[in-house]
Amino acid sequence: MTLQLEITARDGAARAGTVTTPRGSYQVPTFMPVGTRGAVRTLASSDLEELGVQVVLGNTYHLMLRPGADTVERLGGIHGFAAWDGHVLTDSGGFQVFSLAPRVDDDGVTFRSTYDGSSHRLTPETAVRVQEQLGADIQMALDVCTPLPSTREVIQRDLTRTVAWAERARAAHRRPDQAIFGIVQGGTELDLRAESARRTAAIGFEGYGIGGLSVGEPRHEMLPALEAALAELPDERPRYLMGVGDPVALVEGVARGVDQFDCVLPTRLGRHGTVLTGAGRTQLRRQANAESDQPLDPTCGCAVCARWSRAYLRHLLMVDEPTAARLLTIHNLAWTLALMDQIRAAVIAGSLEQLRAQIAAVWDPPRVEDSRRVV
Ligand SMILES: [Zn+2]
Repeated sequence: MTLQLEITARDGAARAGTVTTPRGSYQVPTFMPVGTRGAVRTLASSDLEELGVQVVLGNTYHLMLRPGADTVERLGGIHGFAAWDGHVLTDSGGFQVFSLAPRVDDDGVTFRSTYDGSSHRLTPETAVRVQEQLGADIQMALDVCTPLPSTREVIQRDLTRTVAWAERARAAHRRPDQAIFGIVQGGTELDLRAESARRTAAIGFEGYGIGGLSVGEPRHEMLPALEAALAELPDERPRYLMGVGDPVALVEGVARGVDQFDCVLPTRLGRHGTVLTGAGRTQLRRQANAESDQPLDPTCGCAVCARWSRAYLRHLLMVDEPTAARLLTIHNLAWTLALMDQIRAAVIAGSLEQLRAQIAAVWDPPRVEDSRRVV
């Protein structure tokens, strides 16, 4: 195993610790920003360093099409190409591909490029090869991401195929400096989630992604499915809840034993002018911010909040100045990373229950409050 997790603190099912790889180490639980096409949109790798990002996620689907895995490999892999020394995790490409209504068979999946309509094919083996070329520290096995809602028959079929593909990916994996994670599917059927986790764990991966959640199902269905999967995964391996990044899901995921998260939410919201704050989400375009000399969030320690007012940032946003998207992305990422730091510190201090209650009070208030929440 090229990747090791050392758990140094526990609070209930929650864990905090250090993951070590040939590249170095990162602290968990951690939030991984998404660098879709080789960069977190509007940012550079130097910005990520300043923000203290430990792991960035790269999208195999986009990078294999543009500029192509061969090109990235020749230019030093994703680390050399993007001049980034931190950890990189690449997804398998499956999530994007399955959103394009591809042709799937037992051997793999055929899809069309969103760039030029050309036809491409991914199999468990080619997904491993492409990710070897991209050179991430952690790669993901190709899975079949089941859309929700789906019938039990469809979920079972995709689960069986995902397990078969995971076995093939594990067998095809050969780079000793690169870890590979398997992915648990199973929709919101609890027994199928457990079965998927059990069978994927039996193959023996260095970590486990829990995929196919937060795809539109309500939270009261997502969390039991997550628990069913986690109960079957080995304690000493990292667990990664894929595509989830809102404050309640982060703390509830950690409370159940998740170590890693990725999500486009903070960066996407930022580009559209929605700001994450200790008091909840706020839309910067609101007239109330037009002459506000206050920072985005008075409790935030980021470089944007230290320097610029809501009025100035709102002005940039209203005149479509690209700097607005960049600065709001920096704030939202810094805010989310600080939240993860707070969650991690609470696990270490044994005070996660209090933090869960605080986060729920702001981000998940009783239904009657919902209509007054500023979104
Ligand atoms: Zn800030």
